[in-house]
Amino acid sequence: MAQATASSELVPALIGGRWRPASTSTVDEIPDPGSGETIAWLPYSSAEEIEAAVAVAKEALVSWSETPVPQRAQAMFRFKRLLEEREDELAALVTQENGKTLAEAVGEVRRGIEVVDFACGAPTLLMGTNLDQIAAGIDSEIGRFPVGVVVGITPFNFPNMVPLWMIPVALVCGNTFILKPSQRTPLSAVRIGELLEEAGLPPGVFNIVHGANDAVNALISHSDVAAVSFVGSAGVARYIYRESALHGKRVQALGGAKNHIVVMNDADMEQSIPALVSSAFGAAGQRCLAGSVAVGVGAVGDEMVRQIVARAETLRVGRGSDPQSEMGPVIRDERRQELLGYIKEANGQGAKLVSDGRGVGPAEGFFLGPTVFDDVTPDMKLWRDELFGPVLAVVRAADIDEAIRVLNRSTYGNMASIFTSSGKNAREFRRRADAGMLGVNIGVAAPMAFFPFGGHKESFYGDLHATGMDAIYFYTSTKVTISRWF
Ligand code: NAD
Repeated sequence: MAQATASSELVPALIGGRWRPASTSTVDEIPDPGSGETIAWLPYSSAEEIEAAVAVAKEALVSWSETPVPQRAQAMFRFKRLLEEREDELAALVTQENGKTLAEAVGEVRRGIEVVDFACGAPTLLMGTNLDQIAAGIDSEIGRFPVGVVVGITPFNFPNMVPLWMIPVALVCGNTFILKPSQRTPLSAVRIGELLEEAGLPPGVFNIVHGANDAVNALISHSDVAAVSFVGSAGVARYIYRESALHGKRVQALGGAKNHIVVMNDADMEQSIPALVSSAFGAAGQRCLAGSVAVGVGAVGDEMVRQIVARAETLRVGRGSDPQSEMGPVIRDERRQELLGYIKEANGQGAKLVSDGRGVGPAEGFFLGPTVFDDVTPDMKLWRDELFGPVLAVVRAADIDEAIRVLNRSTYGNMASIFTSSGKNAREFRRRADAGMLGVNIGVAAPMAFFPFGGHKESFYGDLHATGMDAIYFYTSTKVTISRWF
């Protein structure tokens, strides 16, 4: 919390088509993680402002839910065109507030646009089904209807893409939406709101409020909110799931991760190592699909570690806006300090530091270079905790059975990948590894928006995952009608 200065930008909220900075005296400084310089100030929304956002979303629901589906889809076509036209600008904004490299930011924006592509298919996706003559003279049908006011709560690590996992599908299904973006990266959310407005969305259909715990608690307990989509860390996901359910909401809560990447003796090392290193250190390890544990199976372990270290040490660490940079900073200095604490502790616990990222990268900004620990065991915090930074733990396993046993011990189950040239190994892995997203010779098992996205165990709380048909089902209620005409 800090005091805003007149010279810096105050990030506005959006309520019922009106843009204005929130009114409370709680104001967060938003730094550029690549330089540490202040880029904006974020005032938090008051209880009254959150109440007003829910009221306008409820009011706008009346006509938006009645707007013909093809017209709602047309708004998404216009939104998609605007996103594509502004792709470079949107990516630069992601880099500025999050720190990731421009190439990573462009990838993020494109992934977000794919969800809009998907949502444009609403007239087909929202079709129901029917059975004529279910009994003599009686027909039955299922139809899909909006659920109501939807709340989206999003994390800092994909400030553009994660809101776009939710917004286009929720809107095209006829719901109205209130976004509470991460208080650390609110700028991309504002830009999304501006483009939705430019795409012709009526006032009140999409709203933005700002803040942290208080804002979230007010939204998830509000009697006029019907559904909650959350993406963030595991503990908060569990809390959101429980509290939202307690208040009768439909809820999906995507949580944290500790993703294992298994490298078999028969893996193509030329392909596998670059993919593994990119998975571990891309976006400075701040991806929910980051490979944070490398499992070397059998004799390949030593060679795997040698090649990981050789490659990791060549990664150019620098500001995301510098086209030469291959890895940017972490989000805040406090995060970097926590990571340094983990490194210090692991050093004293028997794990072997084989690549030390401390002191790597520019002095300004929140940098930590690629760090690799070998000989990590499942009793160490380094194996257990989600570090969410550029720190890779290497575990050794005797065979595929032990590798799968180790990864299945994790309380998380977001992603697991195997590198192998054996179809049998791949098949075993696909059947037995307990994670929602699986990769075979893929470092980041992120599918297109046309498939559902989500994990198992503490990586996900709820029933229906994000994106794909799961999102259509999550953002609609079904009604079954049975009819007879005399
Ligand atoms: P976070 O949990 O700190 O914050 C996420 C959102 O929850 C933010 O909007 C924040 O304001 C809100 N929040 C935080 N603490 C809260 C509390 N106590 N009560 C109510 N609301 C609260 O997550 P983050 O640090 O912004 O993002 C990183 C995390 O998100 C990582 O754990 C990562 O694995 C996870 N993530 C998961 C996925 C996935 O698909 N499973 C995708 C992206 C990120």
